[in-house]
Amino acid sequence: MARTAVLGLPRIGADRELKTALEAHWAGTITSDELQEVARSLRAANLQRVAGAGVDVAPVGDFAFYDLMLDTAELVGLVAERHGGAEASGLPAHFLACRGAAGITPLEMTKWFDTNYHFLVPELEDGQQPRLRADKWLSHLREAQAAGVTARPAVIGPLTLLLLSKGDDAPLNRLAELVEVYRDLLAAFADAGAPEVQIDEPILVTGLSDDVLRAFSRAYARLLDGKPLEVTLATYFDRLDESTLAVIGSLPIDELHVDLVRAPGQLGPVLAALPSNARLSAGVIDGRNVWATDLDAALDKLDKIVRAIGADRLTIAPSCSLLHVPYSAAREQGLDDELRSWLAFGEEKLAELTLLARAIEATPAQRDELLVEARTRASERRTSPRTNDIAVRGRVGRLQLTDYDRTTPIEARLREQAERLQLPPLPTTTIGSFPQTGDIRSARREHRAGTLSDEGYEQFLRGEIAHVVREQEDLGLDVLVHGEPERNDMVEYFGEQLDGFAFSQWGWVQSYGSRCVKPPILFGDVSRPAAMTVAWWQYAQSLTAKPMKGMLTGPVTILQWSFVRDDQPRRETCTQIALAIQDEVVDLERAGAAIIQIDEAALREGLPLRAEDQDAYVAWAIDCFRLTAAPARPETQVHTHMCYSEFAEMIEHIARLDADVISLEASRSGMELLEVFRDFDYPGQIGPGVYDIHSPRVPTTDEVESLLALAETRLDRDQLWSNPDCGLKTRGWPETREALRHLVEATARRRQAKVAIPA
Ligand code: GLN
Ligand code: ZN
Repeated sequence: MARTAVLGLPRIGADRELKTALEAHWAGTITSDELQEVARSLRAANLQRVAGAGVDVAPVGDFAFYDLMLDTAELVGLVAERHGGAEASGLPAHFLACRGAAGITPLEMTKWFDTNYHFLVPELEDGQQPRLRADKWLSHLREAQAAGVTARPAVIGPLTLLLLSKGDDAPLNRLAELVEVYRDLLAAFADAGAPEVQIDEPILVTGLSDDVLRAFSRAYARLLDGKPLEVTLATYFDRLDESTLAVIGSLPIDELHVDLVRAPGQLGPVLAALPSNARLSAGVIDGRNVWATDLDAALDKLDKIVRAIGADRLTIAPSCSLLHVPYSAAREQGLDDELRSWLAFGEEKLAELTLLARAIEATPAQRDELLVEARTRASERRTSPRTNDIAVRGRVGRLQLTDYDRTTPIEARLREQAERLQLPPLPTTTIGSFPQTGDIRSARREHRAGTLSDEGYEQFLRGEIAHVVREQEDLGLDVLVHGEPERNDMVEYFGEQLDGFAFSQWGWVQSYGSRCVKPPILFGDVSRPAAMTVAWWQYAQSLTAKPMKGMLTGPVTILQWSFVRDDQPRRETCTQIALAIQDEVVDLERAGAAIIQIDEAALREGLPLRAEDQDAYVAWAIDCFRLTAAPARPETQVHTHMCYSEFAEMIEHIARLDADVISLEASRSGMELLEVFRDFDYPGQIGPGVYDIHSPRVPTTDEVESLLALAETRLDRDQLWSNPDCGLKTRGWPETREALRHLVEATARRRQAKVAIPA
């Protein structure tokens, strides 16, 4: 008989209890015992959810106060000296690594593969001796045993741990030693009565070199040699290629988990390579998205597996940990019944698992009966006018190649724009948002709660805009912004005004530590019923003679930061969003905006994990940006903004965006990326961030000046703008004012200085 399993569960709490408790603990209002108690009850609730749904195998050890990668590094003693080294223990040391303290920097954070979850990057130091510290895993295992739940400890494996750490150019030299610690761990789990363990090695899907695969093969041969319990090797987020499968096929694992949602095409090769007698854990329920599973499609895959290896060797599972989805769709009473019936959050996915397990065993007639409800919902969703807006589909269908191009080449456009805008050299500007003060947040809250009227709120926002405009005029900035006080979030703000988006009430997912996001649910065809930003722009422009930028979020970023529909390719959804934002571009231009900025903060995040898939993504993502901006007249200047500095391999794509001006993060990397633009002969203008907004530290005028001077050694002055790295919404007013004053002063000094000759 097939069994069911879950790789991991959300841990922040259905009501974000962990967030509340963590933040209270950090603020000193609850003790560590109280925090531990909250955590314990969250774990107990998770075990109950899994067992209550009738799922056979629950994960244990996947709970973390802050991040599982950090816990894994602690488990094997890879803790930085400044965070207490391998001896560190207790919550204070743990949170020191997460959050730092005066003079002690925390671990760096980065995105977990292509998810929006951020993990803490372990640091490898010279002379670090890995050693086992299994207390957390063992005590959580005992909790599960005491609750009478069959639990499988889940850990991140040694290969993924080392390859995602920093501080050692040759991390795999540590693999052999680390594997001995993992061997001790398996022994400890077996001693504690665990019948099996799950070792996550998602790095295996990224396409590893032969050298790395050899190291992996050697390490796992040793790890599994004489193993005292069953081992599941878990992979997810993409496919295992032939060479990786060849190695896995020769390992004495008991079960292999693969992601058949992201990479259904790997099923054939996986079945062919699966070690004889090993089970296949088939990830057929999307652990990254919120939609009810198409059970017939899932059963096609499962039936195929059963035919190939028999139901006894099948485990049915979500594609990856459920960490990336919210808890319960049933709870979303604010959504209409139809839409809610299309959704499956964590709890609904558990129910789907057991339903699939029953359907596998069922006769065709029983199966029809089991699936009748799900099939009805699926067909309603497929045929609903909300997912099939004829006007939207017609518009996409009529697109021609030329609809993606502006009418005039960039050189001629820039000349027309210079004529129109009459800006000084090194024009100064900001990226869009100004400090989101407590006042702004409480006005928004009161407005949402209905205690502040629409007129009152609008009045308040006008006051904020007027203030931001006045500040910018006083500072002497050249190109102004309205400050975005009306936007809670750069995606949500647009999603709320577009058709095709819905907003959950409880749909929080962990982003990092105690931070959560509540992504919009993009369920249907997207269109823009009415202008979204024009009135605010008009008001802001009416207050100044200087150019006021129209500010929009680009289609790729809106796509990337939403739960996206799974019933059509992402590219198609993105094209619909592009057309909706394009409508706004046209309206802003018609209202008189001379500059329109289309932010694409998340363009690079969407990059597929495997190199061979990246070009196709970049091609359509860039196309969608181009489509958004295409109707802008030549004399309208299109800006874009991106919050990162890794442009080396992306530069030709960035050029294909065909934006007139691009602002980027650059201050932390010392303007290095400008060499890439220079070597490419990049035709557009560039605003390399001259100060880091991520820190409250105010840069001195000299610092900004020298960054600008540095920029001018790489690019012509008339190609450069002067601006911060990113939006200012997380900063306070005093530091913002001072930093911008220094930016304006430094720019003025540079304008006096002799034009540098780019090296
Ligand atoms: N215009 C946005 C802001 O200034 C851009 C934010 C971002 O790049 N993440 O806040
Ligand atoms: Zn940014």
